[in-house]
Amino acid sequence: MQNLWNEFEAAGFQGDLQQRVYTSRLLGRDKTLVMHGGGNTSVKITEQNILGEAEDLLYVKGSGWDLEFIEAAGFAPVRLAHLVKLAKLKELSDPEMVNELKTQMTNASAPTPSVEAILHAVLPFKYVDHTHSDAVIAVTNTASGEQRVREIYGDTVLIVPYVMPGFDLARMCADLVERYLTDKMIGMVLLNHGIFSFGATARESYERMIELVGHAEDYLRSHQAWDVVMPEPPGDVPVHMHDIVRLRDGLSKAAGAPLIVSTQRDTKSRAFARHPDVARLSQQGPATPDHVIRTKRVPMLGLDVAGYSSEYKKYFDVNDKLSRVKKTMLDAAPRVVLDPALGMLTVGRTAKDAAIVRDIYDHTIDVMLRAAALGGYRALPEKDIFDVEYWDLEQAKLRKSGKPPVYTGEIVMITGAASGIGRACVDSFLVRGAAVVGLDINNKVETLLDRPEYYGVTCDVTDESSLQRALEQAVLHFGGLDMLVLNAGVFPESCNIADLHYEDWWRVMNVNVDASLSLMRLGHPLLKLAQHGGRVVVIGSKNVSAPGPGAAAYSASKAALNQLARVAALEWGKDRIRINTLHPNAVFDTAIWTAEVLETRAQSYGLTVEQYKAKNVLKVEVTSHDVAELAAEMCGPLFAKTTGAQLPVDGGNERVI
Ligand code: ZN
Repeated sequence: MQNLWNEFEAAGFQGDLQQRVYTSRLLGRDKTLVMHGGGNTSVKITEQNILGEAEDLLYVKGSGWDLEFIEAAGFAPVRLAHLVKLAKLKELSDPEMVNELKTQMTNASAPTPSVEAILHAVLPFKYVDHTHSDAVIAVTNTASGEQRVREIYGDTVLIVPYVMPGFDLARMCADLVERYLTDKMIGMVLLNHGIFSFGATARESYERMIELVGHAEDYLRSHQAWDVVMPEPPGDVPVHMHDIVRLRDGLSKAAGAPLIVSTQRDTKSRAFARHPDVARLSQQGPATPDHVIRTKRVPMLGLDVAGYSSEYKKYFDVNDKLSRVKKTMLDAAPRVVLDPALGMLTVGRTAKDAAIVRDIYDHTIDVMLRAAALGGYRALPEKDIFDVEYWDLEQAKLRKSGKPPVYTGEIVMITGAASGIGRACVDSFLVRGAAVVGLDINNKVETLLDRPEYYGVTCDVTDESSLQRALEQAVLHFGGLDMLVLNAGVFPESCNIADLHYEDWWRVMNVNVDASLSLMRLGHPLLKLAQHGGRVVVIGSKNVSAPGPGAAAYSASKAALNQLARVAALEWGKDRIRINTLHPNAVFDTAIWTAEVLETRAQSYGLTVEQYKAKNVLKVEVTSHDVAELAAEMCGPLFAKTTGAQLPVDGGNERVI
């Protein structure tokens, strides 16, 4: 455990609250202590209120802030005396507690205080740090966890039995602190939950955390439970894309909504999936309330998928609370699937959720294996997991999040995504909640965006094996394919038929028609399994109905593509796949239209660039964004009963109208 305190850095944080900010960030930097908004910290400060009266305040981490990047604004100031009094109540429901926390803040625009605020308040120390340290949890989540904690820490920490986070835990801690806290104590261990440290200064509290967690790590090391031995993962096992797609289909059906399934092929994940004890370890509950993840182990992917619904249905029957929360059916589907050949698959409503599950489970594996090496991993009892999942605060969070964006859990592939209309489509689909796979021959597509919902693949669409690989990559990343935007195309230089070479003709046909056919063929079995029905949008051209001289290859290729789409609409209707075409014209904010080209073209018509750009019936400029928005909408409910349609997006063209 490394102490990251740096005198020079710390000097840049002046004052009690700023010092709190600094050491909170230090904790946040270590993912074995906290991750994804886990853990919380506080400082008690006396301030003058508007009446000039002195008031003791608890500045506690607000929800929605990550310790690693927290700022002063991320701490909510709550009246300390009120919190201490609340801890004396016999009971307080979770919504009531949240109400008290919010109404006792002295800054209306501060974030909602952490649900562990009362716990922080009852600890009589200026600074309090709380983490869910992997090492501490590995020790406490064993059969004799409490005994081991005593062995490690002696009388330097207060030991708190497991109680679900919330008011009951705060009340119990208040009671234990009052009765058992001694001068020797520098922290508090919460079994199956985590650890607190406290001190008079930010540095003292932080360094005690490092010291306490360090002891747990040393203990694991000295008991040969630190470097856990894992079986060799299998070599290069071929991944069967369709097995993953079918698994996603089964999971999504169980959840009642489309899900993202992300396959982790790293050594550790694959080794764990082959661990001789994996069945027993993974089928137990989570390490802490923050690690609530259901696991499902399948011997080989593709089998027994339909079984998910009935197996997980039992969770619905065991508790009557559930009738209220049927909407959260997602929680009935497993979040982690372990397969000896593939490794670990993590499941989420969004790509971000699946990535969080991956991170959390990655740490859970360490905790489980170390605890197992110590003499047996013991998770939370099932009833407690259940309570955590459905407790009122979680429900409040769900209610607050409202209706998810239209394409949440769905995956779209967009060709020619590095620039122009394709690039704009990436944004339009992301805004609508989709996970986006961008394809382009330009490798810039790989670094277009750095976020879990986007995945870029360099791919020559005219090469069928590259397309196949890109689809496999997409499936490994997100689990399937629901929507396809066929946008990649070339627009060759003007050339009259008499001078047109076959090579040029075929090159245009190859990119604009053949490549689309390939991707449609390869994508069809995936699109067939889309929960909401597969959708394809073809980016056509005005030239289909109003060709221009000198554009024989381009116009013929787009016309051929247009017929291809129409036939697909006829053939794929029975598979619930809709395919519609957009015909843009004169979209100038694309790569081919440089300022120079625009200028020359405008001049040749005797127009200014502005006039040239808006040379249509409505006298409006058509942008990539306009086309992309329509493409995205065409996959949505508005077009749910439309297939084989062609829609112009060109500001109105006299020859088309
Ligand atoms: Zn906690």
